[in-house]
Amino acid sequence: MGVRLGRSMFAGTLGLLLGVPLAVYQGWLTVPDRWNPWATLDIRETPGLFTGFKLWRLQGDPQRCAQALRTSPLSFSLVADSVPSPGCPVHDGVRVKGSQAAFSSSFLATCPLAAAYALFEVHGLQPAAQAIYGQPVVRVEHLGSFACRNIANSRWRSQHASANALDIAAFRLRDGRRISVARDWKGSGDAARFLRRVHDAACGPFNLTLGPDYNAAHRDHFHVDMGTLRMCR
Ligand SMILES: [Zn+2]
Repeated sequence: MGVRLGRSMFAGTLGLLLGVPLAVYQGWLTVPDRWNPWATLDIRETPGLFTGFKLWRLQGDPQRCAQALRTSPLSFSLVADSVPSPGCPVHDGVRVKGSQAAFSSSFLATCPLAAAYALFEVHGLQPAAQAIYGQPVVRVEHLGSFACRNIANSRWRSQHASANALDIAAFRLRDGRRISVARDWKGSGDAARFLRRVHDAACGPFNLTLGPDYNAAHRDHFHVDMGTLRMCR
């Protein structure tokens, strides 16, 4: 009896684990897109259980990725695959021109990096500014995305070499106040609190987030990228 019950519970659990996603995939069962792992990422949705999976599915699927970006506040244009510098091809690129917060300059990014940025801005950066300062960030200063180079002091290609990384240096609030990683990270006031919160928020959508606590090379910016390594430092 006990064994049989155990078996049927096992079968039931297995059925739920395998059957529900299959039924959703096949269209036999309809669930809201937020709860459907096969639905294309919608940047407006509050990040949840399937956000990471949906973001991962944008890799190598430029059409799906562009569809996801269209649900974001980003203004962007698609960029054809190219080799901007010898040895550093860029695939699935977009030129990011602006968003809720303007950029110090437009930048080239892989589409998944742009999608992760949009999630970060909508669900991490702006909520942090509202919570601590009661106003939005209106400008983001960055130090660039594409750079055909290796990781400093290594023989490994940087994610910057494929436009899959962005270095973020400072934020300007609506009242004109400027908060920079170089100056404010080490403090103890609102600016430091804001930067720590922003750094932690970046660790959700971006695969890799490195800040001043990681090493001296990152004393003045947050490096975020969508490479295969997942780390938050
Ligand atoms: Zn970087």
